Amino acid sequence: MIVILGSTVEDHSEEYRLTLDYLARLPGIAARVHKVQGTQQALTEIYLIGDTKTLAAEEIEALPGVERVVRISEEYRILGRHRDERRVSGFEYNGVLFSQDNLNVFAGLCAVDTPEHVELMLKALREHQQVCTRMGAYKPRTNPYSFQGHGKSCLPYVFDLAGKYGIKVIAMEVTHESHVDEIHECLEQTGQATGVMLQIGTRNTQNFELLKAVGRQQEFPVLLKRGFGITLNESLNAAEYLASEGNSRVVFCLRGVKTNMGDPHRNLVDFSHVPVLKRLTRMPVCVDPSHSVGTRERSPDGLYDLMHATAQGVVAGANLVLADFHPVPSKALVDGPQAMLLDELGWFLADVAAARDCYEKRQKLAETHHAKR
Ligand code: PEP
Ligand code: MN
Repeated sequence: MIVILGSTVEDHSEEYRLTLDYLARLPGIAARVHKVQGTQQALTEIYLIGDTKTLAAEEIEALPGVERVVRISEEYRILGRHRDERRVSGFEYNGVLFSQDNLNVFAGLCAVDTPEHVELMLKALREHQQVCTRMGAYKPRTNPYSFQGHGKSCLPYVFDLAGKYGIKVIAMEVTHESHVDEIHECLEQTGQATGVMLQIGTRNTQNFELLKAVGRQQEFPVLLKRGFGITLNESLNAAEYLASEGNSRVVFCLRGVKTNMGDPHRNLVDFSHVPVLKRLTRMPVCVDPSHSVGTRERSPDGLYDLMHATAQGVVAGANLVLADFHPVPSKALVDGPQAMLLDELGWFLADVAAARDCYEKRQKLAETHHAKR
């Protein structure tokens, strides 16, 4: 059960104290306070853990300062929607809004290789009014002899250049909790030139100690990739680890699942799960066509499979697109074969916008239909 306090209730107020005292006295129930930073306001939610079935919601609702009580019907206590349309969804980070209602594109390098390539990428993004990107500094590689990413040594120039080109948010994978500190320190040294959304990759979706560490910090929001060999439910529980440690600014990313049934694509595209995630949780939903499709093959209609997959996700209501680009894919140190070219960025963004228009039209059709009933 979740007890949601009114937005004007202060932590030190009498009503706050009275309500918390009451909840603390409930036998066999633990109360856990969670602060939710919405786009408009900060909210206090109190999670009652234990056998809450016998509790009378009306009695708790009558406590001072309590706005309403939500009975939790499913898993994912914090991030779940629990069939309650009024729960806050979305957050703002470094001036960029992330929610289930809008769309941001993160086009960029799979892996940082040279300052020149980073700069060419960022320049192209600025030419197209983009303020988000992806840049991998710490790369989890299947083969121990493959390039592992430049790590913290590239962060100063990546952050400086991002600031120079007006980038507000960089999605950057971390594979160890020490990377979070390295990112924090470097951002400080560069005078907070930009912002970072910490990415947890598919190979680490169930790295529980990493999830706990990233969940404990409140500075950076998190982009969690679905695990490629586990169920959706298991991946959603992984997201809940982040929230249960205190960080509920989480974006959930679909990136395809591993099975030969997806051949000749790198993974089986799973973007039909976009609406499922929106129904089950309050997280903005991201799709990663690059790591799903994994090739730059084109069909007779002139479109890349990458673009078809992207559109499938966007037409289904995706809120973020993570896509690999590279100035010279043949020279990319990681995932060159799936990177689109910089002169294709404008085309790609226009294709994404067309798919988004289509989604918004579909949403209106649904609204009209339901209004008639
Ligand atoms: C990536 O986005 O660079 C990446 C490694 O993705 P994934 O974890 O989905 O394989
Ligand atoms: Mn990659």
